[in-house]
Amino acid sequence: MLNVRNDFPILTKRHNGHQLVYLDNAATTQKPRQVIQAVVDFLENHNGNPHRGAHILSVEASEAYDQAREAVRRFINARSGEEVIFVRNATEGMNLIARSYGETHLQKGDKIIIPISEHHANLVTWQRVCRATGAELVYMYLDETGHFTEDDLAKIDTSAKIVAFAGVSNVLGMKVPAEKIIERAHAVGAVVVYDGAQAVPHMKVDVQALDCDFMVFSGHKMLGSAGTGVVYGKKELLNDMEPFLLGGDMIEYVQEQTTTFNVLPFKFEAGTENVEGAVALHAAIEYLERLGWEAIEEHEHALVVRALEGMKKIPHIRIIGSTDPEEKTGVIAFMIDGVHPHDAATILDSYGIAIRSGHHCAQPFGAHIGAEASNRISFYIYNTIEEVEYFLETLPLVRRQMGYKD
Ligand code: PMP
Repeated sequence: MLNVRNDFPILTKRHNGHQLVYLDNAATTQKPRQVIQAVVDFLENHNGNPHRGAHILSVEASEAYDQAREAVRRFINARSGEEVIFVRNATEGMNLIARSYGETHLQKGDKIIIPISEHHANLVTWQRVCRATGAELVYMYLDETGHFTEDDLAKIDTSAKIVAFAGVSNVLGMKVPAEKIIERAHAVGAVVVYDGAQAVPHMKVDVQALDCDFMVFSGHKMLGSAGTGVVYGKKELLNDMEPFLLGGDMIEYVQEQTTTFNVLPFKFEAGTENVEGAVALHAAIEYLERLGWEAIEEHEHALVVRALEGMKKIPHIRIIGSTDPEEKTGVIAFMIDGVHPHDAATILDSYGIAIRSGHHCAQPFGAHIGAEASNRISFYIYNTIEEVEYFLETLPLVRRQMGYKD
């Protein structure tokens, strides 16, 4: 098991007389000293507006920003830094792709195919593309344990122009058969958008091996700071797209009535860049790479194995999607019979356990499975087996506190 807790100052926090047990990592992750220090060092010693000045601080900020982009490129194995665009988060990345690619490349009769379990970021964005272009949004409904069916895959036919899916669902916590979906999508000429928000922090995602056309992810879910996300896109697609936001560094030359735009990746980065966010992401990537994917995956898997084993033995707990740890990453959504998820989360919070409750930004999925809201625990590299044991001991108390006898 990994032993990294000392790197994370916030994990010493106590709440309500208990040691804080942070199990809401799918929402956002905590930050190690290495990331915090990198940001402090940048702000104390190198802060300037990048790519705009000849002076030392502008130059140093430019270097920091460019180095962060190169670290991301290496991390996801993009062919070139031109294919790595910094945005605010995965959601903004999806908006960029939907607006700049979807709205200009689709038309009536075309289809956008997504699983019903998608996060709103990968759903409402396509609804708007459909309104703007007359394209149709088609859902793959999955089976009751969250697996793709042959019927789902058959929906990817020659009218499919975009197939968009999360590599790991933030509700089901299951890895999707990405290669199979991508192969099928490409066979019918569709473009693939891979939402890496819950995948990239937890496993090696190699965009060339995967052969997705676009990918998005958020820095804050992988030890970085909020306000930093990434869009990966194949260069030929990005070159063929209109800019998303206008102004600042994405400009080449402005005349009174017309403007020409900068080259990739700058064409998609309007306004002053979030350099400290990029610095944080760079430090986060180095931190994760130092640990290594094998150790990270092994650690999270051990937590999930124990959590699922224990939860399955507790009466009145219903786990959403597969209960096979081999199919799950560190995300487990569940219901407690007779207890509203917000009540469950509030009771667990009183024991120092932070979990998520709500619709997890996947309302159509909640409606589809008849669970408008649910609870969710999610792990990361600093969670321990002891924390899982404490959660398993505390979970049965929720129903008791709500007045049930068993
Ligand atoms: N996609 C998935 C699968 C997610 O889990 C999330 C965050 N919950 C997002 C997209 C959006 O991420 P952000 O809020 O950082 O834009």
